Amino acid sequence: MSILDRFSMRGKVSIVTGGNRGIGRAIAQGLAEAGSAIAIAARDEEQSAIAIGELQKLGVEAISVKADVSNREELEAMVNTVTRTLGPIDVLVNNAGIGFHANALTLEDDEWQRLFSINLDGVWKASQIVGRQMVKNGRGSIINIGSISGLIVNRPQWHSPYGIAKAAVHHLTRSLAAEWAQSGVRVNAIAPGYVKTEIASTEYEDYRHYWRDEVPMQRYATPEEIAPVALMLASDASSFMTGSVLVVDGGYTLW
Ligand code: NDP
Repeated sequence: MSILDRFSMRGKVSIVTGGNRGIGRAIAQGLAEAGSAIAIAARDEEQSAIAIGELQKLGVEAISVKADVSNREELEAMVNTVTRTLGPIDVLVNNAGIGFHANALTLEDDEWQRLFSINLDGVWKASQIVGRQMVKNGRGSIINIGSISGLIVNRPQWHSPYGIAKAAVHHLTRSLAAEWAQSGVRVNAIAPGYVKTEIASTEYEDYRHYWRDEVPMQRYATPEEIAPVALMLASDASSFMTGSVLVVDGGYTLW
């Protein structure tokens, strides 16, 4: 097998949650370019239809499934639809997520729960439901999108629930990697720095100094710079990697 063949996704089936925009959309595009059939799962069907149109232009099978990752029934229905339409699932990218700034002294319980139900419970539930199928089939790769916010405390904004949930996603990654290693299922995470998408308010003047100028590379990432890392983790190129949290942050966490 040539080195580039190890990155091939031909004959594989991948699900990307939150695959209709931002980082998830770039990852779906990358996996499709490498030959994978793709399912994207998100809530906004109009936005998903636009993303699917682009994926289909690449000549791969691509479907969208309306699913809220915090809802177990919707995730189960998603897995059934994808398996029935595209075949057994080889890759799950747990990318869907939300973020908001919050002061710890005033944060309401329902806001805490809303964030955790998507950013942590959603990763757990999707991994469990897809993991059951992968373990049974003896193969699979799960990629969780964590964050540098799970490694350091960001500034100047406060958003402790976001960072706490991302730190938990990193440890969820290690825990499931250990538990499923003997079953042929690998579980890894990516911890991006600031990426120019809707979630990161990169346009705010007040944040630019901390979010861009303090990055050793002095810029934000683009979603397209995260996609190749996901492709490596999805493919046989990373066949001996499991439980890793790959930091992709232009050097942000070095200082
Ligand atoms: P975007 O806001 O651009 O996209 C978020 C995606 O998640 C959308 O596709 C959205 O689709 C989907 N989504 C949100 N909530 C749900 C839900 N309940 N069920 C299903 N899908 C949902 O964000 P990014 O692309 O920036 O972020 C993607 C991931 O990367 C997140 O996990 C984020 O925490 C992480 N990350 C982002 C960084 C950044 O700087 N941008 C840095 C580090 C990590 P829809 O609304 O249609 O459901």
